[in-house]
Amino acid sequence: MVDDSGLQALREAARLSPDNLPLRRHLADLLLAQGYLAEAEGEYRAALVLAPRDPGITAGLAEAFARQGAYGAAMSALEPFLAQPGYPPRMGVIAARALLGEGDLAQAGFRYHEAVMREPGAADADLAARLAAPVKAEPQPVDGPAEPYEEEVAARRSSVTFDDVAGMEGVKEALRVKLLLPTQQPELFAAFGKRAGGGVLLYGPPGGGKTHLARAAAGELGAAFVSVGLADVLDMYVGQSERNLRDIFDAARRSAPCVLFFDEVDALAARRSDMRQAHNRQVVNQFLAELDGVDDKANEGVLVLAATNAPWYIDVAFRRPGRFDQLVFVPPPDLAARAAILRILCRDKPLAEMDFEAVAKATADYVGADLKGLVDRAVEDKLRESIAAGRPVPLTTRDLLALTKSQRPSSVLEWLATARNYVMHANDSGAWDELLPWINRKR
Ligand code: ADP
Repeated sequence: MVDDSGLQALREAARLSPDNLPLRRHLADLLLAQGYLAEAEGEYRAALVLAPRDPGITAGLAEAFARQGAYGAAMSALEPFLAQPGYPPRMGVIAARALLGEGDLAQAGFRYHEAVMREPGAADADLAARLAAPVKAEPQPVDGPAEPYEEEVAARRSSVTFDDVAGMEGVKEALRVKLLLPTQQPELFAAFGKRAGGGVLLYGPPGGGKTHLARAAAGELGAAFVSVGLADVLDMYVGQSERNLRDIFDAARRSAPCVLFFDEVDALAARRSDMRQAHNRQVVNQFLAELDGVDDKANEGVLVLAATNAPWYIDVAFRRPGRFDQLVFVPPPDLAARAAILRILCRDKPLAEMDFEAVAKATADYVGADLKGLVDRAVEDKLRESIAAGRPVPLTTRDLLALTKSQRPSSVLEWLATARNYVMHANDSGAWDELLPWINRKR
């Protein structure tokens, strides 16, 4: 399902001369760079048949695996190389991404730092940020000291509500019914024999507003908001990650009514069949046990929300009733939603005039986070101008339009290409039906 005509031509050429290794390699690299991950995987596999154990091709294949969330497969491809000293640093970075996906923070940190020390150009800011938890390179000790959890993650009041979330009317409505109505109108739900409970899994492209929505849901409910990142759970000590999860749920129960939000949940809830290490499977089991609670009332007043960019890697056990039994797609914003997001982002900024529709038109394929980046940069520029001028210089439409020329949107197209693969090839249960209109849309 490759849209690009240049790539199509190359694929045709590779089909006609299947033994042309440089051609296959080039094609695979291009497919990977453009985010056609499943297609890239296929080409790298074919290239490896021609050149077994080629490090560049193996690295490409492993990257294609890792970016599709097949972390175990990525590590299997890399392991023969990683066992040798002086392996290509790029492989170390890919291994770090896969290990992080598997929940092995300590090994991920070790691989990453080792690779970047040898080849600073291999650094990856996003990965480094996700690894930012304290990481040591020693092998895993059995059992470690339990640290009091409350010191690290706190329940906070959320000051944002659904009024601060532009567009997304369908998503907000789904959350209202799921999260808000049962607590606001319990009699109605009791009359229909439905009880509050069960979590919602928000999925969609990175930067699309999932965290923002979760925080707004807490504000809308007047509930406390507990936000949990990977680094709050994963720990190098065997058994400690499970204890962290238990403590997080206990803290949320004590703060009820509370929205407990798990970001990047695919790493904590990945398919157990994809995991190579037993202790990672234990984390998944503990997570399931906490979601179920010891009895019906255990999680009363705790609404569990989770966000992921890769819902297809989540163990199906998480989708059973009472767990994350509702999947909600948080789509990339359309034209009207982009204008509305820009309006909210510029709400308290000094504006001369602002044609929000014009900026929205110039920012196709931008997600909320991209729009926020755009406005933040424009405001910084204006601040500098204002300081130089000695008076406030307001923001204009032209300022934002000018910046759209140099700031490219993040990875929505790449994300939709990956999503398309899953919807086309693995949608037997109909779980991804909500995505269909998006991935078939002509752009
Ligand atoms: P995700 O969790 O999906 O990666 P975030 O929630 O972190 O995305 O979004 C990044 C930022 O983009 C938010 O902090 C918010 O400022 C802005 N944003 C995204 N979507 C919206 C929206 N619908 N309305 C207002 N702001 C938004």
